Amino acid sequence: MTAIARREEQLWSRCAGCASLLYRKRLRRNLDVCPECGEHARLGAPERLRQLVDPGSLRPLSDLLPEADPIDFVDVLPYPHRLTAARASTGLAEAVVCATATIGGHPVAMAVMDFRFLGGSLGCAVGELITRTAERALDDRIPLVLVTASGGARMQEGALSLMQMATVSQAIAALREAGLLTVSVLTDPTYGGVAASFATNTDLVLAESGARMGFAGPRVIRQVTGRALPEGFQTADFLLRHGQVDMVVQRRSLRGRLTALLAATRAGRAARAGHPPVPRQEPAPHRERLADDGAAPARPADPAAAVAPSPTSEAGQTTAVRDAWDTVRMARHPARPTTLDYLDSVFDGFVELHGDRLGGDCPAIVGGVARLAGRHVMVIGHQKGHTTAELVARNFGMASPAGHRKALRLMRLAARLGLPVVTLVDTPGADPGVSAEEQGQAAAIAENILTLTVLPTPVLAVITGEGGSGGALALAVADRVLMLENAVYSVISPEGCAAILWPDRSAAPQAARALRLTAPDLCRLGVVDEVVPEPSAAAHGDPAETAHRLRAALLANLLPLLDVPPAMLVRLRRQRFRRFGTTRGVNRAGVR
Ligand SMILES: [Zn+2]
Repeated sequence: MTAIARREEQLWSRCAGCASLLYRKRLRRNLDVCPECGEHARLGAPERLRQLVDPGSLRPLSDLLPEADPIDFVDVLPYPHRLTAARASTGLAEAVVCATATIGGHPVAMAVMDFRFLGGSLGCAVGELITRTAERALDDRIPLVLVTASGGARMQEGALSLMQMATVSQAIAALREAGLLTVSVLTDPTYGGVAASFATNTDLVLAESGARMGFAGPRVIRQVTGRALPEGFQTADFLLRHGQVDMVVQRRSLRGRLTALLAATRAGRAARAGHPPVPRQEPAPHRERLADDGAAPARPADPAAAVAPSPTSEAGQTTAVRDAWDTVRMARHPARPTTLDYLDSVFDGFVELHGDRLGGDCPAIVGGVARLAGRHVMVIGHQKGHTTAELVARNFGMASPAGHRKALRLMRLAARLGLPVVTLVDTPGADPGVSAEEQGQAAAIAENILTLTVLPTPVLAVITGEGGSGGALALAVADRVLMLENAVYSVISPEGCAAILWPDRSAAPQAARALRLTAPDLCRLGVVDEVVPEPSAAAHGDPAETAHRLRAALLANLLPLLDVPPAMLVRLRRQRFRRFGTTRGVNRAGVR
């Protein structure tokens, strides 16, 4: 390309909507909205901030974090190479830029995602930076504004990126408790783990014109359903029609709308009137964080020992190491015991409770009251089946929004009744369907994750088969997370990961190894607290012995939790999910 041609290219740009050739400076003056057709071009985070905040008010927050490659992920390229390339091409340290600023005179803390950086993916560093921004909002008693643009959780960081959905959600929960406004602005595109957490569990959700948001992407849904998608599927107007966003806002109106909303809040009114911010009533639990300075966590006082790692947590090491792909196939074995099987063999007196009270009863989630060694508990789990007919009737254990809302109802009921919650996780993932998206799949998962971070009753989760991404996490934010030896737990299916990062899906076995999705791996990463060994014939070969071992593990982990006061349980649960933000925590656990 000649120098003149290159210069010409820098001066002009072609609209993705109407293909008009537009003078770049004119386009920028118009906030990167095409004056011909109204197409909203994607914005990088620095330009987005420049458009939204009051001139001169921007105070960037530190983006200094240790280098992160927590699971040594390699596909066709090592992950650090992809990171280096993203940094060079964007000039950013990570896929989010965080700052404090004022908007229309109202102080806010802001985290703005940048899709150019590895698809705006949510990894440990991004989760840590957004969490710190939320904590800054809490410290300063100011609203939090998030601008999302993301393809979802970052595959290259495995289940640790999945944990970030819980980490950021609990920081948002703390703002909710403190009465501080949280606003998310959905920009194009917002999908996967970001959609199913902080993009939708804020107080207000605004969608920029032209933005698309959903849990499953259109390509995946088309593949699974084999059908064409409805016109305008997952667009801002679709989301508004289906009750999933508060409003659709043109880019030129966004600053004004945010100003008006911020003015309506208590913090906004206090700032405008010159009153000092309302002092905090009690020390926020988030401040007692563990991994922030890389120091070993203070050994919790007596009751807290209930949620500390147990000496048997490396049980998986005593058994022969199985290839990750073989484990995936074991986890999916049709004869593997299901939640209803365990309700029969591990628990007594199960009484099933149905319905989300909003119009549905999802067969892929079962829940109700039961007894475990004479103690009453609330059990909630994904239900698959052993035959094709059962699997179809249960939607293969893939919950719909109604299923997640039924689970939410039962969790809250358990807390009110003082019952501990036991969850049994066995799902390929949440339902990737058109109606699931119409009914707010992302927000349903996001609300469950947030609620579990603050649920004032013991929560014990067991990954019994497949722990598939956000659909699994919606039942797995817990005080203790156990995993059967041949279960798997992953941010994405190996097939899905292979289709994206390798030439094709046949690389699924390699992807399974790279993702670190087995119980021993996740135990080492601290995602899982204890591996429950299976009999030598595996769970499907000896269901009775598996049930016996699971029952023993449940009792050993649940009984100590019953003595911990609810407020302390919640505090310790938050600490558990706060420690995944830095790789130092991972190193301490012995990985690398
Ligand atoms: Zn145009």
